[in-house]
Amino acid sequence: MSSHLVSVEASGPLAEWLEPSLADTAGRDPLGLNTITLDRVLPDLIPAILQISERARYFSIYPWMLWQFKERRLAATATELDRFIRRREYELCLAMKLCPHCEVASAIGSKNAGPRVTAGDDPFDRGLSVQTAMGGFGLYYRSPLQALGAVAPAGTPLGPDQAPTPIEVLAQGGLALELAEAFHSSIEGTEYYRSYERSTDPIPRQVMEELAEQICLCRLPYKPIERDAIRRLMFEPRSEQGAEECDARRQAFALFLSQVEAHEEVAFEDGEFWRSLINRFNAHPNDDSVRGRTSAAWAALAMKECAQDALCSIWTDFCRSGVAEQGLDGMAAEELRAMIERLATAPQIEFGGTALEVTPTGSARELQDRAVAAAQELDWEDLRVWAAASDSAVAGLVALLVFAARMPDPDAVHPLWREIAVRHSHHQDGLFGLLSLLRQFLDEDLSVGALLARTIQRFLIGPHEAIAYSKLPEATFRFYWEETGRFRFFTPGTGGLDRFQPSDDRRGPMASLSEDLGFWIFDEEADEVALTEDGRVFVAGVFG
Ligand SMILES: [Zn+2]
Repeated sequence: MSSHLVSVEASGPLAEWLEPSLADTAGRDPLGLNTITLDRVLPDLIPAILQISERARYFSIYPWMLWQFKERRLAATATELDRFIRRREYELCLAMKLCPHCEVASAIGSKNAGPRVTAGDDPFDRGLSVQTAMGGFGLYYRSPLQALGAVAPAGTPLGPDQAPTPIEVLAQGGLALELAEAFHSSIEGTEYYRSYERSTDPIPRQVMEELAEQICLCRLPYKPIERDAIRRLMFEPRSEQGAEECDARRQAFALFLSQVEAHEEVAFEDGEFWRSLINRFNAHPNDDSVRGRTSAAWAALAMKECAQDALCSIWTDFCRSGVAEQGLDGMAAEELRAMIERLATAPQIEFGGTALEVTPTGSARELQDRAVAAAQELDWEDLRVWAAASDSAVAGLVALLVFAARMPDPDAVHPLWREIAVRHSHHQDGLFGLLSLLRQFLDEDLSVGALLARTIQRFLIGPHEAIAYSKLPEATFRFYWEETGRFRFFTPGTGGLDRFQPSDDRRGPMASLSEDLGFWIFDEEADEVALTEDGRVFVAGVFG
């Protein structure tokens, strides 16, 4: 059922998502572009849904663990809770790996449990899911469960004396307990729960096979009480102050589902999601219905990702060429200028079915006109894909020129488009700033070479130096101006000279969570995606 979902192992780098602005800026966001999406846009557009909290059943599994932990009256310390959670994560994962119905994408502890299952162990020795304290709960699900109001964080004043709880506990109010009890009703009758869950004995394989039928992540659609409790957790507000966030989340999922209904590839591809969002918005730029407002905001985000990927092509070409061309002590300013001129040169670049000639001394405005004419049949996503595949500064610049020409007039479209388009980070312009500045540069009648130099200075060198200085003593510089006046390029240890990835936009978790919650299905026989009746009712409930 979920074989198309990408398996996520609990490994080091994913932990970085816990502190997106910190770790991401250093490693994967050298220009401060991803942080705009992750920290400035997504918390408003889709609150409490993280990239790696992608399987709905963990939203009842962890409340069950916290509840069981409390029921057993174990010492309320982080150390005890940590062991309790990681042991059970490992055992549930062993069972999930034996599930005959799915390939159990994104099960917590796969890296440890998977090989034991494949090796044919019988019985299974006991173990722990992952290295990190609090396991997948701490890494992926604690913060969404807290944001959704099912888990009270450590430090929350509780009980008659309002003493701060030393560990995470189930939140007050009925729903958290309901989630726990719903999962409990699946597990309590199993041999595993009755005979092994509280022991340290090895567990027979057969016991785990029986457990899989009950607790695998893919079984949620067959557990309507549990599934409905998780739906309520995500889509019904538990307080007045949570109502706005809940609305945003409902609208995000409804938009995703309605786009899936129109274009099924949206269920699987970020690029198709962006394409559908932008095309939908362009067709109804002033639609003030809930759907229209939602798609105006999300289309601005999608456009930002397209522009960002084009800028990334300039970045990689600039950094790679610099590393390849510099001398032992870097480059003089004059050599850097000459290199950028060369980067602004392409005798013949295949674009929109025509051959585009780009010369550094030619007029940038005139290049824009030719590019816009050649790109008539290409939408934003086509241009993004072309610029990324070409992976050259010229291609990146050409795509940006078309985007600058196509950027909507913010006064002529729904105001929510501007609201998202103007969001930017400390050191980097967002979509509106980037494309508006490009337009201003064009108004100065620059040559192509001068425009590229200006673009590199404003959107690459300036932001990157500022970001890398802010990360010191951690060395994340890809280049800097030395005090001697020479420009030095560096090949950093991680990522090397690769492209940085487009920002995660939560399409992945929206797809897997809404599939788990029974809002759409992938019919393998018909090779088709379809919204379920519940999915259609959900969309209609949000969009009317
Ligand atoms: Zn399964």
